[in-house]
Amino acid sequence: LIEDIDGKVALITGASSGIGEATAESLAEEGVNVALAARREDELAQLADRIESSGGDALVVPTDVTDEDEVKELVDRTHDEFGRIDILVNNAGVMLLEQVESADTDNFQQMVDVNLSGLMAVTHAVLPIMQQQGSGHVVNISSVAGRKSFPGSSAYSATKFGVNGFSRGLRKEVTGENDIRVTRIEPGFVDTELADHIPEDEQREQTQQMLESMDALTPEDIARSITYAVGQPGHVDVNELLIRPTQQE
Ligand code: NDP
Repeated sequence: LIEDIDGKVALITGASSGIGEATAESLAEEGVNVALAARREDELAQLADRIESSGGDALVVPTDVTDEDEVKELVDRTHDEFGRIDILVNNAGVMLLEQVESADTDNFQQMVDVNLSGLMAVTHAVLPIMQQQGSGHVVNISSVAGRKSFPGSSAYSATKFGVNGFSRGLRKEVTGENDIRVTRIEPGFVDTELADHIPEDEQREQTQQMLESMDALTPEDIARSITYAVGQPGHVDVNELLIRPTQQE
């Protein structure tokens, strides 16, 4: 199903848990050298140990993607360590669901800063390296909430609609110049710790109940989709993958 991607280099944000962690493991199993970024250094170090004890190569770079200096350091260190960056998985995200009327606007800001501004900043820092190489693959983790809004998801959806808009524009900018690919991944319910951070009790409980009411996706299900997209031959750009649990409406 996939080409040989052994020896490629991937930078993965939000690698300390959930989809990012599973993606790092999946790519490392294929022989990809992985740079692991998130704020929680201990989780990243444990993941790197697991990857290295299975014969892989992992670099830990504790990073807050909302800090442009840390983003620059992340990209520089990855490039210095591995000599190139073939794959960027923009996965770091927060989902602080709240009704607009009663929301804490700091949570709006945090979602915009991480899910959208952070994703754009990391892409901006990596793109010149891919352009210089003449190839690369940017994988942006959007969501079903990047296509639809629900009560409580307005601000989160705004960031994920934003990710889709940014991805579409980026693809138009790079197409034709280089072999740079841009893929949007749009998961439905995935069983991770994402919902645990929802500040509004009702929203958190509803989301957790939804997750429990169905056979939700696992982080590994999404990691497989990402590995599939980046493992296609260079002339194949998987633009968009919408993946929902079979039981999700
Ligand atoms: P997790 O909460 O398990 O993962 C989120 C990751 O983002 C963590 O590694 C976290 O690490 C990182 N992160 C959060 N804030 C920052 C920051 N400021 N700087 C760097 N890293 C940060 O949830 P998921 O794996 O589910 O989420 C991954 C992505 O998938 C998100 O973009 C989410 O919106 C998207 N998604 C998830 C769905 C789901 O149902 N779970 C559905 C659709 C999309 P740390 O706290 O260590 O910084």
